[in-house]
Amino acid sequence: MKSLKENFHKTHVLIIGSGIIGKFNALELSELGFQITIIDPAEHKNSSNAALGLLMGHMYQKRKGRSWALRKLSIELWPKWVEFLKEFNNELKIAKPLIQLTTNEEKFRKLEKFINENKDQGLKFLEDDSLPIKNINKAFQTKNIKGMISFKDGRINAVSLLKTLDTYLKNKKVSFLEEKIIKIRKSKKQWIAESKTKKEIKSDVIILCNSLNTNDLIDNLSHRVKLKPVLGQAIEVGINDKEVDLLSLPKQFNINGKNIIPISKNKLIIGSTDEYHTKPEKDIFKKLTNFIDKKPTWLEKGHITKQWSGIRSRPDGEPSPIMKNLEDGLIICTGFYKNGILLAPACSKWVANEIKNYLY
Ligand SMILES: Cc1cc2nc3c(=O)[nH]c(=O)nc-3n(C[C@H](O)[C@H](O)[C@H](O)COP(=O)(O)OP(=O)(O)OC[C@H]3O[C@@H](n4cnc5c(N)ncnc54)[C@H](O)[C@@H]3O)c2cc1C
Repeated sequence: MKSLKENFHKTHVLIIGSGIIGKFNALELSELGFQITIIDPAEHKNSSNAALGLLMGHMYQKRKGRSWALRKLSIELWPKWVEFLKEFNNELKIAKPLIQLTTNEEKFRKLEKFINENKDQGLKFLEDDSLPIKNINKAFQTKNIKGMISFKDGRINAVSLLKTLDTYLKNKKVSFLEEKIIKIRKSKKQWIAESKTKKEIKSDVIILCNSLNTNDLIDNLSHRVKLKPVLGQAIEVGINDKEVDLLSLPKQFNINGKNIIPISKNKLIIGSTDEYHTKPEKDIFKKLTNFIDKKPTWLEKGHITKQWSGIRSRPDGEPSPIMKNLEDGLIICTGFYKNGILLAPACSKWVANEIKNYLY
């Protein structure tokens, strides 16, 4: 009897959308032996390339339901995938730990309770005299910052990860087409995807990883999901104060909802987690640096050296992400407005299982 891998080899899977979700699905399915094509007209201009790459798994306070199950599986899978991908980029790593801070007493009480209930999860309350708090208080000239450290959470550089996946997929001879799909239909048992330049790509399975554009391709098949655009923004801030060494700060931390990543002595990245509009605002510097009541002078006088953003898709009326088997051989994996990088391994595993169940 032929092995499953030999049988999978005959199955052609078309992945529409080449952000982290499309590429991770390609990785998972390639390793299982499937024949893969990925198609995307603009693979570098998506939200995945804008992501800060924070992997907030263990510090997630909800400990039940599907979103926790996906996080839990992803945080188990991430170290294994990073080890595996090292063959294609030996510098790929998850920089740990991750620190979450607040100046809000009530939020801190909640954090404290959460840490006490999850002591075996590599979480610790940060004491006032701990080095991270001392350094943060010194740099930000604050006294009331408190929080937790998660030794198992961290950050993967999203752009480096995407490039590594490209190297892997090229090595695996995964076909890549720089095209936009405008229509999909089924003819007998095969799926046919039509591109803007009128190319027709036949496949046994289609996975839609095209974020906000999902409905464009499923409307005519009488399927629909509700998705809203959500902006995510980030800035790189340069400072000019010889007294401040930003590298004395933790490698990655979050204060009152803003993610902060020092990248050199005088530069740091600040990113927002949630924004309910679609166009970058004019006062972005003010908005992203307002995470403490009184900014230190070095930050007040800081200047934007780079600025970028990404539009993500947020499910409306159902939890994120949306993973559905719409009909035989048609799967959607969309609606990753937050945490798409974190959740990619678990969601790709779910998709692979759906395909295996459909085929066998
Ligand atoms: C500033 C910022 C910071 C973030 N920080 C983090 C973080 O720290 N940690 C984390 O886990 N997540 C983070 N995220 C969220 C994360 O980036 C997203 O959840 C994730 O990138 C979603 O990936 P995706 O593959 O679904 O979508 P995208 O990356 O948007 O990819 C969708 C792709 O589909 C393609 N496409 C669309 N229509 C078609 C079509 N018709 N035919 C072919 N291709 C098509 C597009 O060109 C695009 O390349 C951040 C996001 C932003 C913007």
